[in-house]
Amino acid sequence: MTRRVVVLGSTGSIGTQALDVIRRHREHYEVVALAAGRNTELLNAQADEFGVPAERVRSGLDSTDALTELAALPDADVVLNAVVGFAGLPATIAALEAGKRLALANKESLIAGGPVVNAARVRGGGEIVPVDSEHSALYQALRGGRREEVARLILTASGGPFRGRTRAELELVTVEDALKHPTWDMGAKITIDSSTLMNKGLEVIEAHELFDVDYDQVDVVVHPQSVVHGMVEFTDGATVAQLSMPDMRLPIGLALGAPDRLSEPFGAIDWTSLGSLTFETPDLEAFPCLALAYEAGRTGGGAPATLSGANEVAVEAFLDRRIPWLGIAEVNAEVLHQGSGNITEVADVLEADRVARERARHVVEQIEARTAL
Ligand code: MG
Repeated sequence: MTRRVVVLGSTGSIGTQALDVIRRHREHYEVVALAAGRNTELLNAQADEFGVPAERVRSGLDSTDALTELAALPDADVVLNAVVGFAGLPATIAALEAGKRLALANKESLIAGGPVVNAARVRGGGEIVPVDSEHSALYQALRGGRREEVARLILTASGGPFRGRTRAELELVTVEDALKHPTWDMGAKITIDSSTLMNKGLEVIEAHELFDVDYDQVDVVVHPQSVVHGMVEFTDGATVAQLSMPDMRLPIGLALGAPDRLSEPFGAIDWTSLGSLTFETPDLEAFPCLALAYEAGRTGGGAPATLSGANEVAVEAFLDRRIPWLGIAEVNAEVLHQGSGNITEVADVLEADRVARERARHVVEQIEARTAL
């Protein structure tokens, strides 16, 4: 059987790796639509290579209509949503409402819009399979027992480039420092999120939404080698973990083909050269974004949308060198603590996001004025 795949965000890190998987397994997958942002040269080359007709190739990801139309194409089986940030929400909802398998790399849509995304999934009969390596690991490890036997989920975090540094040592880190991820090669937004541990915080909320577990049952452990991607501890004390060398093509391949695995290994471990695997507790004082995410998740309603929206503005301001690295957590905390409403429909998510961004821009200006002195 050939699965027909829509790739949204095809020129980014996840998109290009997904197309690499498909390129190597043409007998199982066909690309039926492509969408990307500004890199039209690469997008057109991809369309040529995979034989995607022009009317199904869209650039300029801010066009919501184009994304939702492609996400709901009648002849598509799988929609890979690898759009960056909150802009991925309409496509997530459209794919689920159309009953598609959603291979989800856009964690922001699930985090911000949890309640409405789940409602769309129920309404349309769609299915979410995670692309995020940690959640793919949990998805795999959860096969090791029954739902009522799950004691807790454990997400691993590389710790990012600043692992082990104190808060004081983090005051003067630069954009270049923060963009140097030790184990994964990813886009700029997620790399900065990894350096603040916000990425892990957002993944805690993502795990809660995907697997319907309480926040008390989701733990984070720092594991600098990024070989253990996620673990499930069961009620009898057994822990089932998924291990592989960092290579996103493994979780992408599983998300496209699940429950089937790819016939080709990506990231298989050479135990003779692996060396030791280490684990440590995250430092919540140096990396307050992780605690903020738990707080937003437990608050629920519009709080995750608020935190995620504020964070996008803060990360952009940091990348633009307007605020220092520690300012990211400051913006997030200030905006989150200004409160957030409830979420019952998509309009509420959009409004929570809009308000959060407006507040965040204000806090950015304050920090900018203060640090420019
Ligand atoms: Mg991840």
